[in-house]
Amino acid sequence: MKLVDAHIHLSDPEYNQKMDEILEDAKQSNVVALVSNSMNLQTSLDTLQLAKKHPNLVYAALGIHPWNVKNLSPNEVQETVDLILQHETRSERVVAVGEIGLDNQYAGKKLWESQLKVFHEMLSAAEKTSLPVIIHSRGTTPEIVNLLPSYSLKKVLLHWFSRPITLLPQIVDKGYYISEGPPSLYSSHIQDIIKRIPLTNLLTETDGPVNFRGPFQGKMTTPAFLPLVVKAIAKIKEVKETDVADQILQNFTELFGITFSEA
Ligand SMILES: [Zn+2]
Repeated sequence: MKLVDAHIHLSDPEYNQKMDEILEDAKQSNVVALVSNSMNLQTSLDTLQLAKKHPNLVYAALGIHPWNVKNLSPNEVQETVDLILQHETRSERVVAVGEIGLDNQYAGKKLWESQLKVFHEMLSAAEKTSLPVIIHSRGTTPEIVNLLPSYSLKKVLLHWFSRPITLLPQIVDKGYYISEGPPSLYSSHIQDIIKRIPLTNLLTETDGPVNFRGPFQGKMTTPAFLPLVVKAIAKIKEVKETDVADQILQNFTELFGITFSEA
């Protein structure tokens, strides 16, 4: 079984001292690829370094997260866009633009406008580079799903999709993916989403170092949680764990263009 983490933040300071341990744990848990997401220019640069240092395991997603729009330096958006455009060829394993999006809990009229402006810049960079996008959509999924068709985007991942559940048929129709993580073990709402989404549109993630509840309470989030996530999905879908892992690996390849040798 080969497992994948479609959304983690390895450049987070919480992981700093523990990187070797975390990546070793990941390998021991059959995790063959991690897409490390950025929050701003600095974490985009750090994430690129991690992808260079750990080829064929860590892949980079570059971008500006909506939570950071109020702390940006004057040229930060442009410099991040330039960084993304430089990596069009994927030579350093830049596989997506992310984490980008909109969050209505960080709104207030002025901030909302800044979020929209930054999001549009990021989508435009994704369009120019033909890179997939990894999207944060807390409280904003309907707006985002309406806005995305104005860009010609290669692929879309709505990470930790949560609501509204009524939007799922439209998400599937458009060929978008969603990713779910540790809450698959304890949140009946996320379990309901997994039940409804075809396996062909689903990916696994940890969103580490975000902390989780249930059996993960008080534990540092690592990719070593992924075998339990796959097990939970298999139980919900009533299929074999290996079938879940194989389909998710195939989705991961289709989404990010990363291929894996048979072994
Ligand atoms: Zn995230």
